Amino acid sequence: MLSLDSHPSGRHFLQIPGPSPVPDRLLRALSLPTIDHRGPEFALLGKTLLAGLQQVFGTRHPVAVYPASGTGAWEAALVNVLSPGDAVLMVETGHFATLWQKMALRLGVKPEFLTRSGTCKQTGLPLAWRHGVDAAAVAERLLADGGHAIKAVCVVHNETSTGVTSDIASVRRAIDDAGHPALLMVDTISGLASAEYRHDDWGVDVAISGSQKGLMLPPGISFNALSPKAIAASKDAKLPKSYWAWDEIVEMNKGGYWPYTPSTNLLYALHESLDMLLPQGLETIYARHRRWAQGVRQAVQAWGLPIQCADEALYSPVLTGVVTPEGVDADALRQTIHQRFDLSLGTGLGRIKGRMFRIGHLGDCNDLTLVAALAGVEMGLKLAGVKLAASGVQAAMDHFSAHPTTTSKESSA
Ligand SMILES: *Cc1c(COP(=O)(O)O)cnc(C)c1O
Repeated sequence: MLSLDSHPSGRHFLQIPGPSPVPDRLLRALSLPTIDHRGPEFALLGKTLLAGLQQVFGTRHPVAVYPASGTGAWEAALVNVLSPGDAVLMVETGHFATLWQKMALRLGVKPEFLTRSGTCKQTGLPLAWRHGVDAAAVAERLLADGGHAIKAVCVVHNETSTGVTSDIASVRRAIDDAGHPALLMVDTISGLASAEYRHDDWGVDVAISGSQKGLMLPPGISFNALSPKAIAASKDAKLPKSYWAWDEIVEMNKGGYWPYTPSTNLLYALHESLDMLLPQGLETIYARHRRWAQGVRQAVQAWGLPIQCADEALYSPVLTGVVTPEGVDADALRQTIHQRFDLSLGTGLGRIKGRMFRIGHLGDCNDLTLVAALAGVEMGLKLAGVKLAASGVQAAMDHFSAHPTTTSKESSA
């Protein structure tokens, strides 16, 4: 059972889709002495970080950094560009889309929640939670909004509760094809630095992200990447905002500083993270996560269990949702695996609780951590009496040995 006084032998396997395992190099950076956040060294740190973050988001425009979890950056995004009673179009893709929609309600805007009705015949699970954003449905809704009442379209890029990565460029095209001026707001909290994300190329107006997923930091800082159109909208938006307001942050950031005390030590870790990620090249990092995801899916398919994401084109490179057979409680399974093998898996959230679990394959992992994690899952499934078609561990090993990693340098040579 839970005991905080004894230290288990060996490393804990933190295979949840965020927080992801933190590299030792980042943990060491966190432990450095805190410096004066108004001093000259800090300005250098701040400017370096902000430039690095622009590269990760793929933007030439400002990125605001908040000492807050991802949820804070969700709120920041909404309060900076909206006014009380504004209509926004949100899309039900899973638990995180649902939470963001509830937040919009609490803040006093009027979210319309576009969904996909029906349940899946094979698994009994809601179809909306097995698919991505339907760009055609977004276009249709915007075309019907001739008066342009809808001020923003808000979607989740990588839906962490299901393992579905939506096609953001297609949502942008839907807005443009409808000739609609709505802002495009994208939650890429679990996508950034693992799944391909291109802020400027995709025409995103506000992106929201967090530290504890692809960036491999502990929880505690989060981000808004902006567009000039979003900054212009923030000048007229009437929802109350002070701590989250972009104007003072963006102004102070020009000198490498913040209007308040930033999370200095987490920013040291962010500096290390960017120093690990950027020299490798983002393409290499996206390819690495895609390859891990393929190996994990090979395992799930070998077991003969359904993958939560029902659309092959939208499989998440960050996590894989695994549906348990009817009658097998996914949370009891997770608990057994945690107790017996010191492996944490993601729980089923919201409408799919108890029917699925999530394997995170992001951040500081490698082939062998994933093979070991899959071994823990396979042993747990057998203990739970699940009949497996074949060994998933063997399938993943075969996949990883047959597909060597390539770096962007090799693949472009
Ligand atoms: C983790 C996550 C959140 C919530 O972030 P917190 O840091 O827990 O506040 C929101 N959206 C998505 C897609 C996430 O993965």
